[in-house]
Amino acid sequence: MSFDGKVAIVTGAASGIGLATAKRLARDGARVAIWDLNEAGAAAAADDIRQAGGQAIASRVDVSRRDQVDAAVQQAHTQFGAIGILVNNAGITLFRSFMEMDEETWDKVISVNLKSMLVCTQAVLPDMLQAKWGRVINVSSSSAQTGSAQMSCYAASKGGVIAFTKALAQEVASSGITVNNVPPGFVDTPMLRGSPIGSVVDQVAAASPMKRAGRPEDMAAAIAFLASEDAGYITGHTLSVNGGRYSN
Ligand code: NAP
Repeated sequence: MSFDGKVAIVTGAASGIGLATAKRLARDGARVAIWDLNEAGAAAAADDIRQAGGQAIASRVDVSRRDQVDAAVQQAHTQFGAIGILVNNAGITLFRSFMEMDEETWDKVISVNLKSMLVCTQAVLPDMLQAKWGRVINVSSSSAQTGSAQMSCYAASKGGVIAFTKALAQEVASSGITVNNVPPGFVDTPMLRGSPIGSVVDQVAAASPMKRAGRPEDMAAAIAFLASEDAGYITGHTLSVNGGRYSN
């Protein structure tokens, strides 16, 4: 896959799925802006990419904050040029019984996981509309496809991501811009390891159809495909990458 001449932004790219995606896009020729709350992690990711011969810059960005997002888009634009690919990947997870949910926590999860779609996508769409070419790939979650106990807030936020993907895809389809989403299911990342099922990852993986957890690189490959020229007639789609754990 070639992304020569393309500029990509990957959010939450200091870790896990975002990191693998940034490395994959850079390996295939994209100039990549690495955004994350974790400033040191973002800088290390950009260093890794540059040492491997790629081009990357790092910014500390809270994806739910329009001022920070707009400033980082400006920086990427100035250093690399017009943005063609946006991977809305940053997210936070939460396991909590519904009756113990408070409004502040609910708002925080919705803000990071869903409001970020508004803020980040609005910031790059003008470049894509002008170029009549763009790829937006949103990272959702299988919890929104299947439901998941203790995850009502998280699943609601990710269900919103899937619905947002479908709606925006139709709105911008005639402008050469595609909008798709990838819902990870059980991917071995710091997020999964830090969750309540982190201590039983190997047992859960052994009971899954492919007998292994997903790897961040599995998600990155699907995201890279959706970002490619080859995926130009695919939009509004949910591309499940879960080793057969769930089919739809
Ligand atoms: P991860 O390893 O925790 O990486 C997520 C990165 O996003 C972290 O570096 C995190 O920084 C950053 N981040 C969090 N809030 C942010 C914000 N407001 N602004 C900017 N960056 C922020 O998680 P992952 O497993 O790779 O998850 C990536 C995406 O996949 C998420 O949207 C997640 O919901 C989704 N997903 C993952 C799985 C799975 O099995 N792993 C399953 C379903 C969905 P800090 O570390 O500083 O918080």
